[in-house]
This record gives sequence, C-alpha cells and structure tokens, in this order.
Amino acid sequence: MGLDLVKQGANLKNQLKYTPMTFKSLALTLLFGLLSLLALGQDLVITSVHVVSLETGKIQKNQTLLVKNGKIESIVPAGKLPAAWQQVTQVEGKGSYVFPGLAEFHAHLPVAADGNTQLQEESMWLYLANGVVRIRSMLGHPSHIALRDKLNAGQLMGPKTYISGPSFNANSVTDPAQGAAMVKSQKQEGYDHLKIHPGVLSDEMKAIATAAKAENIPFGGHVPLDVGIHQALEDGFKSIEHMDGYMEGLLPSTVTIDPATSGPFNLNLSSQVDWSKLPNLIQKTLNQGTYLAPTLTLFDRYFGYIPADTFRLAPEMKYLPGLQIQQWVNTKKQLERAGMLNKEVVAPYLAFRRKLFLEMHRAGIPMIMASDSPQVFNVPGFSIHHEIALMSEAGMSNLEILKTGALVPAQYMGATNSWGQVKEGFEADFVLVEQNPLLDLKTLQKPVGVVIRGKWIGREELQSQLDRIEKNHLRN
Ligand SMILES: [Zn+2]
Repeated sequence: MGLDLVKQGANLKNQLKYTPMTFKSLALTLLFGLLSLLALGQDLVITSVHVVSLETGKIQKNQTLLVKNGKIESIVPAGKLPAAWQQVTQVEGKGSYVFPGLAEFHAHLPVAADGNTQLQEESMWLYLANGVVRIRSMLGHPSHIALRDKLNAGQLMGPKTYISGPSFNANSVTDPAQGAAMVKSQKQEGYDHLKIHPGVLSDEMKAIATAAKAENIPFGGHVPLDVGIHQALEDGFKSIEHMDGYMEGLLPSTVTIDPATSGPFNLNLSSQVDWSKLPNLIQKTLNQGTYLAPTLTLFDRYFGYIPADTFRLAPEMKYLPGLQIQQWVNTKKQLERAGMLNKEVVAPYLAFRRKLFLEMHRAGIPMIMASDSPQVFNVPGFSIHHEIALMSEAGMSNLEILKTGALVPAQYMGATNSWGQVKEGFEADFVLVEQNPLLDLKTLQKPVGVVIRGKWIGREELQSQLDRIEKNHLRN
C-alpha cells in the first residue's frame, strides 16, 4: 500500500504574492507565514486510520490523528479536521490500522568503542523497519549513552531507547561494597537500568539491590546460581530475563545441579521439574510485581534443534556483517557437535519453556516483549516477529501479545501516562499496518509506516534504508 505525502505549505506563499498590502502588514504576514511554515515541519495529520485500543481490544474506525511537537494532539473522526490544521502536512492512512508499535526490551546495542557508529545506526533502522519503537538495551557501554542522547535530540532516527549499564557478574563484582559502589557510579554516568549476569554471590546481590533501591534505578537480568529465584524475587529484580532461575526453583531438593553436565541454562534437567512447586513461585512473583522477559526465540534459535545451517540462510541475515553470522554459526555448531542440541535432548526443554511461559502469563505475571537481539540468529527488529510467533504458538492471544510490546513496557518504565497507547496527549510513536493486528499478527512484519517522535517514516523510506544496509554487508 503506497501513501501520499501532501505538502500544502506552498499555498501560503501563493496567497502572499497576490495580496496588496503595506510594508508593515507585509512584514507581519511574512513573519507569521515563516512561523507557520516552521510549525508545519513539526505537525502532521494522518487521515483514514482505524485506531486499535490495547486497553479495550476495540477499534475506532475512520479516524484522523493530529500530531504536534512529538505528541498526539488529538484524534478526530474522518472529515472533522479543524480549520487550523487544513494546511498541515498530510499522510493518507488509506484504511490502515494504527497501534502503539512494538518493543525490544532485551536488546544488545552494538558498541562503538572506536568511535565508528555505523552498526549502531543501522540497528536503529532495522528496529524501525520492523515496527519496533522502543528498546531496552541490556548490556551497557559508554557509547550507548551518546547514542541515546543523539536519538533524544532528534539528530538520529531510531526507537526510544533505555540503556542498561555494564554487566554485574563474577568478574566485575568483587565484594558487596564494591557492587554497591558500581550501582552508584552507573546511575551517575546516566544509565537507566542495571544488568545482572551469572556469578554474582548472594551477599553481593543483596548489597547491589539495596544500593539500586537507594539510587532509584531498576535492575534485572539472569538469576545467579548462588542467589536463586527466591532471593532474586525478594531482592526486587524488576525483570527476570529468559525466565531464568524458575526451572532451578522447580527442581526437587534431591537434584543437585552440576554445570559440567547440566547443559546451557541447565536444560538437561527440565524433565525432573516438579510442577507442584509452581503455584508458590507464581504467587511470589506476583507479590513482588516482577516482570518476565521470556525471549522464547533466543532458545528456539540458539539452543533449538533446527541446525545452524538452516538459520544462516534466513533472508534477514543479509542485514548484518558476514563475520557476525559466521560467529553465530560457529557458536551453535560447537553445541551441535557436542550432541547438546539433539532433538530428543532439547525438544522437552523447549516444551517446558512454552508451558512455563503460558502458566505464568495466565496467572497474570506481566510479560515484556523481548527477543535478545542480536544474539545467535536473532537479527534486530526481525527477531521480534519470531518472538511474536512463538508467543502465539504457546497460546497467548493477539491482544495480549500486542500489550507486551507497548502497554506492559510502559508499566515497567512507570510511563503509562505518556506512552504505550495511541491516545490524545500521548507521545506520538506508533505504527501503521495494513490489516487488523488483533486478527493477523503477520501484518506486523511489514509496517505501512512508522511515526517516531512525531515524525513520519513511510514504507518506501524504511525499505530504502534496509536496501542501503544490505549493500553495506554484501557477501562475496
Ligand atoms: Zn541478552
């Protein structure tokens, strides 16, 4: 579906040419004309769209969206455009469906250690082209802060971005006091979030959690073995990534975990899970208000039994450097050669994860849309659609899936009054798609257009950015 961008600012100039006036009134008219032309640059009208409400699951048909200064100024029925808006740049929605866009709330931004920001900037477009308008970066680097600030200043197009600091892990944390000091310094450096990795000890975790509460900075991540799921929940992890720690929490006390034989994420142990322990864990998670970032596609692709040689041929691999794809192939093949990814080994584990995901979702634990890109065969932006397909296969409804990409992340960030919905007064970040996404999730894969910080980017522009990125990584 093509969209017509109509610039009507030229009409103003024509009016000026034919109106006789004094020098003073001419000067005033020119001044006002200039001011309204400047304002035109920031304003936007999108006509003939059906607005999907994630709160109610209802659709408001044939609406016109008025966008001003990066916010949704108002939503009016078709044909009711206020006179003051008649001259504003118009995009014809042509019956598209508009929804608040998707999130990648477990992203890994490329590092621009040498000052080269090419891969960072490319990944911004990969997200936008796939309808991802918000990301939470989960492994920080000082170059990410510069990227976020450029995005916020409008110097670069890309999703709204929250940045975690460098990892808390066995190497970076040496004792409780040093862990707490690291929290303080990351907050001062301007990070929005903290990332916990394996290897942190129980007393270190307590000190980090206490410091994070004092600094008012959310933290989330893996559940270190020494900490365990119960302490992680008690310490106030805002999010648990990959549903980590739950399987270990469901194992009978007679099972001892030997990392040498238990496989990645202890996946070899899933058959020994005692499901009768789940209600207690669910209740504890609900009481603590902890969110889950399931990253189903990470496990499907990284630790699944579909071979590396199949994934390496997927069309979206062309948007990343060949070297990165080769590293992914090597990583997965190593596990394949060791026999760790045979179907009979991993199929029960993947089934366990789907069941765990659905049980926890049905119990009301908030889930945030997250695919862990770019990690083994999960290409930024594109991988969100694999995550969506897997959430759907596991049994989540389309409305609930869409909520994980907007409403729930807004709750997570304490921003339910400013984003996560297409609503008057909310930030103008949203996505147009051809079909009703409540009935057809595949329509999300090819946005008709994206509005970010109040700016319109049509499909042609999104596609030309993809083409440019593909050319940058052409293989011989
Ligand atoms: Zn990750």
